[in-house]
Order: sequence, then C-alpha cells, then structure tokens
Amino acid sequence: MAFVFENAHPLEVLRWAGETFGDGLVVTASFGDPTLPHLVSQSIPWADVVMLDTGYLFAETEWYADHLAERFGVRVRSIHPRPDIERDVWQHDPDACCRARKVEPLERALAGAAAWVTGVRRSDGDTRRSTPVVHDDPERAVTKINPLATWDAARVADHIASNDLPLHPLADRGYGSIGCWPCTSPLAAGEVERAGRWRGSDKIECGLHLAATTGVPVTVTHS
Ligand code: SF4
Repeated sequence: MAFVFENAHPLEVLRWAGETFGDGLVVTASFGDPTLPHLVSQSIPWADVVMLDTGYLFAETEWYADHLAERFGVRVRSIHPRPDIERDVWQHDPDACCRARKVEPLERALAGAAAWVTGVRRSDGDTRRSTPVVHDDPERAVTKINPLATWDAARVADHIASNDLPLHPLADRGYGSIGCWPCTSPLAAGEVERAGRWRGSDKIECGLHLAATTGVPVTVTHS
C-alpha cells in the first residue's frame, strides 16, 4: 500500500519515520510553540528533541523547553556553538553568526544520522511554500522529514487548543516565529509569522533549511 505523505497526519509520518530510521533519526525543534515536541511525545517518545541553543535564545525559550520536556515526558538535548567563536557577530554579519551558531551545531547534531525531522511548514513563508513532507536533503546527506509541512497557523492553533497545550510565554506579547533575541521582534497587526525575524534586513532564513525547496520528494511504499 502506498504511503501518501501529503495526506498523512503528522503522527503517521512520525511513526513511519521512527519505524524506518530508528536510532538514525534526529529531531530538531525551535521551541517557539509546543506542536512538534507534543507530536513527538505521542508517536516516537524515545527520540530526543534537539534544541540548537545559539547562546542568544530568549530566557523564556529556555524555560519553555524545560517546561515542555517535563509536561510531555520528552528529552530535550541542547547543542551549543563551539566555545571559541567570536561574540556578537550578529551586529555586523548575521549570515556568519547563523552559520556559526545554528548551521555548524546542526551539522554536529546530524553527524551519522540517516534522517532529520523538522518543524518546517509551508505557511512559514515564500521560501518554504513547496516543502515536501519527506524529501532527500543532499546538503545534509539525510532524508528530511517535515511532518508539519501541510499545516498552516490555523491548523497549529487548533491542535494547541484541542490538546490544551501551553503557549510560549512571548506568544501573548505579540511574537510570532521566535528565534534569537537580537533578531526577533513582535509582529504588527496583519504581519505574517516570520515578519519579526531579522526585521529591517533582506535576511529571511538562517541557513538551516535551504534545501527545503530543492530536495527531491521521496516516494515510499510500505505495507
Ligand atoms: S538569528 Fe541572529 S543571533 Fe541567532 S544565530 Fe542568527 S544572526 Fe545570530
């Protein structure tokens, strides 16, 4: 029977990923909302959820990750930048800062992995509109799994409400997509979720998900 990822619930995708890749699976989450950690706890609770701790996360995000870990019973594994990198590069070269504080730590987290689960959604923005649910990621040499790709903000909000999940503490202070404090600002009325990231610059991605629109979708048959 063909497994139709496009129409599958994220829980089905995650269960398939767990059965297919086992210990070769790495899950990363931004901890800006509870959705992915919650779904992981309901499907592959043995999997660690990796937090890329750039050193510039909001204190609220650090607290929230601990809170979700305790509430859902998932293990959060923090990956940090190398200790010898230059500080405050975000002030003059945000691309270099993201490379050192996000991309390089991700590459360490994915070393030896066969598959990578992310919280990327098509509705995040134009660069993510064609994100497959499952695809080859040649840049990271893994199968990339985006179980939430087809969910928009309203579907996420519905999942949070129907499961009575806690929101990030900054959510009710006007923040949408929540990243590092120097590069995240609250939203004005009507702005899209990621409008508060790198406000005032052309930068719209940190470099983690550049292959999201270029990888080849995976077709899988299982019984
Ligand atoms: S989002 Fe900003 S502070 Fe965080 S790693 Fe990128 S440039 Fe640095």
